[in-house]
Amino acid sequence: MAFAVVEFQAFKDNYNRFIIKELAVVGGSLNCQVLFRPPYSITQLNDKMRRTARWLTRHHGLHWDDGSITYNESLISALCIPFKIIYTKGREKAEFLREFHPNVCEIAGPSISYHSDVECILGDHERCAVSAAHTLNHYLSSSLHESGQYELEDGERLVTVVPGAERTRRSSNRQVCNEIQ
Ligand SMILES: [Zn+2]
Repeated sequence: MAFAVVEFQAFKDNYNRFIIKELAVVGGSLNCQVLFRPPYSITQLNDKMRRTARWLTRHHGLHWDDGSITYNESLISALCIPFKIIYTKGREKAEFLREFHPNVCEIAGPSISYHSDVECILGDHERCAVSAAHTLNHYLSSSLHESGQYELEDGERLVTVVPGAERTRRSSNRQVCNEIQ
């Protein structure tokens, strides 16, 4: 399958690495939401990261103890691998997802609308990964150009995804994606 959008909301461990809470993978015939149980008790976080966890709960509306699926990073890989290319919004998420897929492209640009018609199993909450993934997938699917450059309309703003070949020409751009084979 050509591409999928992967969006997630997460907490952070004591080493500032993501612990995914809500994962959404949308592409082709796959429309998947996973809510992971925490890998361990919040008491194992140090004071600083517990404060970060509280801040993140206010940010995305998800709680450390939410979720029902055992935390399993090989499941993240399994959901991504069928796709040639994975798109996600933001540099930090893209870097994290490169641990699970060899060809992750960052969608750069301003914030997008997080509202879509797709329902999250948690109901309405801030910055829902499912809404974000569906919104981005819709934009990418509807604005794919033969040149390989995607221009995403977000109100009056423009979001651009630059695939590998174009990035190679723009050698000053440090956000490098692998060229699509
Ligand atoms: Zn959600």
